[in-house]
Amino acid sequence: MIEALHAMADSQNTTIKTFEYRIRPNKKFIAACEKALDDSRFIYNCALEQRIRVYNACGKTISFYEQSRQLTVARNELPELKGVLRTIQSDALERLNEAFDAFFLRLKRGEKPGFPRFKSRDRYHTFSQKYEKVRPCPINGDKLTVPGVGTCRVRLSRPVEGRCKQLRITRRADGWYALLACEIPKPAPLAKTGETVGVDVGIRSFATLSTGEEIANPRHLKQAAGQLAREQRRLARKVKGSQNRGKARGKVALRHLRVQRARKHFHYEEAAKLVERFDRIAVEDLNIRGMVKNRRLAKAILDVAWGQFFAITKSKAENAGRTFERVNPRYTSQTCSNCGHRQKMPLAIRVYECEKCGFVCDRDHNAAINLDTVRPSGPKLDACGERKRSKKQEHDGSYQSEPQRGGD
Ligand SMILES: [Zn+2]
Repeated sequence: MIEALHAMADSQNTTIKTFEYRIRPNKKFIAACEKALDDSRFIYNCALEQRIRVYNACGKTISFYEQSRQLTVARNELPELKGVLRTIQSDALERLNEAFDAFFLRLKRGEKPGFPRFKSRDRYHTFSQKYEKVRPCPINGDKLTVPGVGTCRVRLSRPVEGRCKQLRITRRADGWYALLACEIPKPAPLAKTGETVGVDVGIRSFATLSTGEEIANPRHLKQAAGQLAREQRRLARKVKGSQNRGKARGKVALRHLRVQRARKHFHYEEAAKLVERFDRIAVEDLNIRGMVKNRRLAKAILDVAWGQFFAITKSKAENAGRTFERVNPRYTSQTCSNCGHRQKMPLAIRVYECEKCGFVCDRDHNAAINLDTVRPSGPKLDACGERKRSKKQEHDGSYQSEPQRGGD
């Protein structure tokens, strides 16, 4: 959703920043939000059903625009649809469309994505609306006005900046939140430092830099993950539909939220440090790594966290006039960063000792240096995340003929 807003940003000189506020609970307002959630979910599920029906009948995918057009017709015929703000319904259609886009993109990449599913109350927590230029900011002082829903007070943790383009209301384990995606002027680029860095993410330490520094995996996150697993096991033992299960479920959800928050905070901090210090930040393109069958589950979990870290770093880098690049990680572990020689590096071997030139280096450090230096050999990613082959690679076929790097 935010990506789309970025594309919508009026010019190259603006960027989208999201401001988040906790809503002070107020029975009437919360009830109205619950209803808006149901209204949004209703459209989402109907549109999903329609997509499935049309596909089964004629093998075609019905587009967002077609569904949007039909929504207009349906609103004129059904008063209960007309009673809900159009923009809340449109955003639900858009969200479904994004779910399908993501599904097809992953299919194309050869992954096995889950088909977009019908949403129950337990799986639908956000409704949103677009803000046209003429509309005033939804937050005035500490008062939040949600058109078609109502008003409430928020905890004004910081002032809103720029012009609000989208308002999202979301329910979390510890309460309701308002998120304002605002268009703000792009900050002035940071002064060049003349330094570049390669970042090798891992399991032992969160990341190893080509400078030799390590970013440790934060202890508190590991600890919290352990507690979370324990509470999840406890939840699994509770009788379905019982009150105790409901309570246990709430606990797990709250713990999840705290772990997510702590992790995100950590990612923001580390990303800020990197962007501050380096003109160019190179990381490995995890999509290729993700296909490695080894330790699939662990990878999948960690991938999400790394993906978030990269996304945050990318956006911070772009706003600061820095370069962020994803590099093909093939052979970064096996190649000597000193002489370019390639040798087998089973996972258990933690130190790279070059057979040819005698260079000795920590395994992850060596990989990070390669990410920083052997950049031109990797395929570039374009804006949509699609992999593009360079002319040369297409020519000599090296892209296809390179075997999959095993192990890591
Ligand atoms: Zn060497």
